[in-house]
Amino acid sequence: MERSEVKITVLNDNRPGRKLLAEHGLSYLVEADGKRILLDTGASDVFLKNAAALGIDLEHLDAVVLSHGHWDHGDGLKHLKGLPLIAHPDCFKKRYHKNRNRHYVGLALNKAQVQQRFSVQLSRKPVWISEKIVFLGEIPKTNNFEAQNTAFEDENGADDFIPDDSGLAIQTARGLVVLSGCAHAGICNTLAHAQNLTGENKIWAVMGGFHLKKSDALTTNTVYYIKQLHIGHVIPTHCTELPALARFFDAFGSTQVATGDCVEL
Ligand SMILES: [Zn+2]
Ligand SMILES: [Zn+2]
Repeated sequence: MERSEVKITVLNDNRPGRKLLAEHGLSYLVEADGKRILLDTGASDVFLKNAAALGIDLEHLDAVVLSHGHWDHGDGLKHLKGLPLIAHPDCFKKRYHKNRNRHYVGLALNKAQVQQRFSVQLSRKPVWISEKIVFLGEIPKTNNFEAQNTAFEDENGADDFIPDDSGLAIQTARGLVVLSGCAHAGICNTLAHAQNLTGENKIWAVMGGFHLKKSDALTTNTVYYIKQLHIGHVIPTHCTELPALARFFDAFGSTQVATGDCVEL
């Protein structure tokens, strides 16, 4: 058995682990290639409380990476400061849910407030955090079945396809580990982009929100696509809802993650 190269601790996700808190949102501590990176912060200080309960220090991080500018991934930024932060510039767009009384779904902090708290690197292009870890930057929507429509709009009422949606890829001896926030760009598009960007075709693991809600054609196409890649670990979390998750359970044996889970890859 080869030694694991990537350790992901679930500081927040939608499902609570024993004696830990949870909320709709995502926050993972990613440890790989000698770096400690926080991917997203969830919506509140739940990630900090869980980290404290788990005895995890979040003061000495190499970077905070924001997967996209939605409240459930970035509003926890209010509870951190003094760290390097990497994000796509469109994270600060004012954005709304089209239905649900057009409620605000963007970040609570504006760009100036975030820049006051963090040393911010905004990039549409990929950013290499170490030799093996890359922030994916903007993800091209290349296939014909994902990101075909959106539930979100900007302040002018134009469709918001969340261009800032991104993730992380980590190169390991067994292939790529790809992490998504919500995968609004499509999890298959995310995987394809990670492959193109790194020149590595083999994917060892994919973990994060897949933004799939139903057992429908989109989920069917996604499962089919991922099957072709022969991925070692398929771990859909957060915004992958039960009817879709059940399809991943059937296809890959994927089970639900909970806060406090530690995934070693
Ligand atoms: Zn989102
Ligand atoms: Zn989300």
